[in-house]
Amino acid sequence: MLNLTLSISLMAILLGPIGEIDQKVIQVLKDDLNKVFKKPVVIGKGMAEPDYAYHKKRNQYLSTTILNALMEQKEYAPYEKILGIVDRDLFVPELNFVFGQASQRVAIISLTRLRHAFYNLPEDQILFRRRVLTEAVHELGHTYGLGHCGNPRCVMFFSNSLTDTDRKGSEFCLSCEGKLQKFSTHHP
Ligand SMILES: [Zn+2]
Ligand SMILES: [Zn+2]
Repeated sequence: MLNLTLSISLMAILLGPIGEIDQKVIQVLKDDLNKVFKKPVVIGKGMAEPDYAYHKKRNQYLSTTILNALMEQKEYAPYEKILGIVDRDLFVPELNFVFGQASQRVAIISLTRLRHAFYNLPEDQILFRRRVLTEAVHELGHTYGLGHCGNPRCVMFFSNSLTDTDRKGSEFCLSCEGKLQKFSTHHP
């Protein structure tokens, strides 16, 4: 029989800070994600800076390598879904950069390009918070089995730029919301 702690962690989302991340950002994201997915959200023990994923030629970090490190983190293993948060610029070989990446159970988002400072613009905390939530919901949406959506106002629309991210926001369209309900309550 499962004990209570284990049954809670099985259905919870774990947030894994990778390297130095503002605690307030994680705390706010935890509360926001709890409202969106209606599941417990837990902040995990932080991981080291992802120097192992650094590619000098591109001056960026390979997100797939960090995803693998998240999967191997023993303390994170009992959780239903794992979302790593990193403040480094991420890439995959076929793209200039990525805001995030997801596999079936583990996802990652980067804060770097969500800040106005990256584009030499004055900081906007409210917009930044909205962007962090939008990217987090998008990548977690993938872990729950959702693909990309053609609706440019749905969070599952593929975001190629901050213009896309800011237009769509963090909400699912009705169709994706329906799929999420179906997928996230179904445990094979
Ligand atoms: Zn996507
Ligand atoms: Zn949608």
